[in-house]
Order: sequence, then structure tokens, then C-alpha cells
Amino acid sequence: MHHTIDLPSLLVRNCEWIVTQNARREVMHKGSILVEDGVIRQVGNVSGSADKEVDGSGKIALPGLINAHTHLSMTLFRGYADDMLLQDWLAKKIWPLEAKLSNEDCYSGALLGAVEMIRSGTTSFVDMYFHMEDVARAVAKSGLRGFLSYGIIDLFDTAKSSRERANVQKFYEYVRDLGNPRVRFVIGPHAPYTCSAEMLQWSKGFAEKNNTMIHIHVAETRREQADSQKQHGMRVVEYLDKIGALSKNMLAAHCVWLTKSEVKLLAKSEVKVAHCPVSNMKLASGGVAPLPEMFDAGIPVALGTDGAASNNSLDMFETMKICALIHKAHRWDPTVLPAQKTLDLATIEGARALGVDQEIGSIESGKRGDVILLDANAPNLRPLHGVETVVSDLVYSASSGNLDTTIVDGQVLMENRIVTSLDSAEVCAKAQERATRLVS
Ligand SMILES: [Zn+2]
Repeated sequence: MHHTIDLPSLLVRNCEWIVTQNARREVMHKGSILVEDGVIRQVGNVSGSADKEVDGSGKIALPGLINAHTHLSMTLFRGYADDMLLQDWLAKKIWPLEAKLSNEDCYSGALLGAVEMIRSGTTSFVDMYFHMEDVARAVAKSGLRGFLSYGIIDLFDTAKSSRERANVQKFYEYVRDLGNPRVRFVIGPHAPYTCSAEMLQWSKGFAEKNNTMIHIHVAETRREQADSQKQHGMRVVEYLDKIGALSKNMLAAHCVWLTKSEVKLLAKSEVKVAHCPVSNMKLASGGVAPLPEMFDAGIPVALGTDGAASNNSLDMFETMKICALIHKAHRWDPTVLPAQKTLDLATIEGARALGVDQEIGSIESGKRGDVILLDANAPNLRPLHGVETVVSDLVYSASSGNLDTTIVDGQVLMENRIVTSLDSAEVCAKAQERATRLVS
């Protein structure tokens, strides 16, 4: 990342605990964090002062969480259509509303999602939707770190295909001209069943040429696998492999319905996975993504919420807990996804899946200053038994309600539970107005 703007320095003083997520997964007792020009310079015993100070006493500091798959503007559809079959949900409720979405709706929904993420400790996220220029505008205003993709859908139609390529190019140039280091372009072919082979291949080439991620939905449902068998005579990942679409730049969301040989194919091509356990459970996608097999194959896995219409929150604390629980329940094995591994998925492993683990995902000198603080004195976090249990407490006992402060690039976006980068009440009121108009 090239940061050209001088950012004010920040000192987070005297934290009770610092969960660094560094290579040794070190948890420090009592320490401070100094961020200069957006970059963490010192952790632990800090000498010197800063433009701004935040009191870390009685707080647990951890790296800002990474939501690796969402559709931010879909916050407008939150709670609008629950408890439905996936196909009915899409065809009867979501698609008719999406057809009516204006760019200002998407802007308003993105701001609502941004406020929710700031309040629940997410500092980086990977998005896919429409009207992405407006989402980018909202993200820039919010102070969050966004990896944004325009959702390409060509439905195997060549005329639509060339329009979509033009849309991608337009958004690419918009992000480039925006010149905001926290807003990054990602290419987003929606799925193998909504994009032609040519579009998937073109996306791969575009990603290689411009050094970006490819954000895509893969093997979300059993039906998708059955349709692939019918249409291509092979499974989804086998098809992607055959047409040469798999790539080390690919971040594949869901990957619920995979065989062991498909897991191996993903690993061979160095594909990364964004696991969305809550959405998969709520839409009853069936099955559980084979995370232990992915870990064994060496596939970097990140965690995501998916859009708020199918979750219905963007809360990564909730996602971490549910993720750990579903894999234990599914495998009859409480050791299958320990708290430390689960926190890894939402932080440093998530960063690795996004290809940005040199920049974010841990509290270490040289990383971007993305830090969140939780109130360690909250009743649901007491007693604290010490350094060995802090990570367990974060995954199983904590909730986003314990969040006190959210910092991105050393800039405070929320302090004492008050969002400072956006007007929370105004954002909520506008989103309510937009959503009411949309469904009427
Ligand atoms: Zn999705």
C-alpha cells in the first residue's frame, strides 16, 4: 500500500492485554501501542508521545477483524425475508428489490453496514455488489479498509458480457482515481453459474495484470453441484480447473459442497477460501464446509458474514463463535477448531487469504495500525484467568457489545462506543427511509 497522506500519530496507552496475533501468538500483559503515519511502530514498552492518546487501561487490544465476504448494501434488506428456501428467497424477495436499487440506496446501505462494522470490530472487509462507486464513496468516508468488487453477471450472453467488462474497467478506474489507500479494487465474477467460462478466464487475466484478488462464490449449495454435473458433466471446482479459471489470486466464498479431490484442486492452484458459517446455516445450504480438510491441504481460510440479508448481522464476534461451534458439533470433536485457530481465521489467516498478511492481521511493528479495544471489565468477560485464556474469552465469551474503540490506520473511528467517523443516528435514519421506500 502506498500512503501519501501524513496521518496524525496515535498512542494506545497501558492496555490490560494485547493479543498480538504475531507469529508466536504472543499475548502481552500491560503494554502500549504506538502508531505513526498509519503504521504500528512500537508494541509493549513504548517511549515517546503522539498527537492523540487513547486510554487502554482495563481494555483488551486485538487486531481489527477481517470480514472476508459480504455485500454491504444488502443491509437495507436485513430482516425483510427470513426463513425461506434459497431459490424462493432470491427469486421472490431479493432480486425484485435489487432491480429497484439506486446508487443512493447502495450508498446509504453501505454507510449503514460501515457503522455496524465499526461498532462490532471489523476494520477490513471484502465486498461484492452493484453501484460500487457509491460503496467506495461510503467506505472512504467511513475510514474502514475495503476490498471492493463489482459483481459481474453475464448469464452466458455475449452482449451482456462486454457491458460487464466495461463496468469492471469503469470501477477499476474509479478506485484508481479515488487514490484512497484504504479503498482497493478487486475483480468479482459472481459465480461459475452466472458467468461464462470466457468471463471467468478474462477475470483471471485482469487480476494477474492488475495484481488484484478474484472474489467469487463457489459451491455454496448442493444444487449448484448437481447443476454443474448436468451442465458440464463434472463438479464445480473440476469445471473451474478445466477452463483454467483457478488462480492463486482467487478468494472463493462458501466452498460448502466440496469433495476431497476438489479441496486438493483448490490447494494445487493456491486458491483461498472465505468461510461463511452463519449464512450457510441460515439459508440451510446443508452440509458444513470441510475446514479440517482445507487446513490439512494448506488452504488459507478467512471468515465472512455474507450479506446482512442472509445472516442477518455483520458481526464477526458472533461469526467466530458460531464457526468454532458448528465444526465441533459437526465432527463430534471439541478440538477440531480451537479458539486460537478461530481467531486466526478472523485476523492473520484472513489477511493471508486476502494476500495482505504483510500489511494487516496482527499487532506488530510495521503493520498498519488497525486495532480494536474491548472492555475487559464487562461482566461476561470476568473472571479473566490470565494469559492462557484471553483468546478463549474473546471467541467464546466476548460479544461485539464489549467493543469500546475501533482504530484503522491509527485513526480512531469509534471511541467509548461512540462512532466518530460517521453520524450513526443519521445513517440509520436515512437507511430506514431508503429501505421503507424500496419495499413499498
Ligand atoms: Zn455472497
